[in-house]
Amino acid sequence: MSFLAANIAMRDESMSLSFSHSSRDRPNSLLKVNLFMPAAPSPTPSNKPTEDVIYTELYNSILERRLPPKTKLGESLLAEYYGVSRTIIRQVLQRLAHDRLVKLEPNRGAFVSSLSLEESKQLYEAWRLTEAAIVREVTQTITRKQIAALKKLVAEERQACEAQDIPRLTLLSAHFHIQLADLCRNRFLGKFLRELVPQASLAFFYEVRSMPICTKDEHSEILECIASGNEEAAVAAAMRHLDGIEKALNSRASLKKPTSLTDLLNTRIPSSS
Ligand SMILES: [Zn+2]
Repeated sequence: MSFLAANIAMRDESMSLSFSHSSRDRPNSLLKVNLFMPAAPSPTPSNKPTEDVIYTELYNSILERRLPPKTKLGESLLAEYYGVSRTIIRQVLQRLAHDRLVKLEPNRGAFVSSLSLEESKQLYEAWRLTEAAIVREVTQTITRKQIAALKKLVAEERQACEAQDIPRLTLLSAHFHIQLADLCRNRFLGKFLRELVPQASLAFFYEVRSMPICTKDEHSEILECIASGNEEAAVAAAMRHLDGIEKALNSRASLKKPTSLTDLLNTRIPSSS
């Protein structure tokens, strides 16, 4: 199996909001800032995290599947954890709700968004349609400079993969698709993927905690087809890639279904008689 997901151990974390393995101390916890938005301001002199820092950390935690869908994001708990006011936490949660990664429910509070099976399928369907259009256009218009920039990104993904730096790999992988979209004439495509790709982390969740990562080889293959001007091959490679991610998520989910009585009977130890 070509997916890195096969090599990533499933994370066994509680459904409750726990930051004991927080990315706060990791150097990559701000990576999302570099990839998706302008750089966040430095922490304040009091060393309290700023709204941007907290936003980035929660955003990344959802993308990395460390905070599962439906996890309650309690305002008081978060305010206490970060040592900031509830107002700041409320602003962070509103930004995440705007990204559709968090759902704000009246009188109940904020929860990590969830996608039904049908919505998960629809998300990948929309991604495939958009990706095909993006890859077609980019194959026709890409410049040498743009190819070099994408190759650099794929090389960074390879480094992250070798270092088993899953958070960084998750974000770089998402950025590969967003960077492709940004090369299109239609500005709405980049905007659309910025909204869609992070939500793919919420799809087909069930028991699957680790996000199957876009592999370096598959991005490299797509890029080579684009660089060689082979539009059909580029689209086919991109479709194989997205199909693969969706199947990996789905198959791992189905593996976690409770074993039926029939299965148990079929796998019983044969009698020695
Ligand atoms: Zn990918």
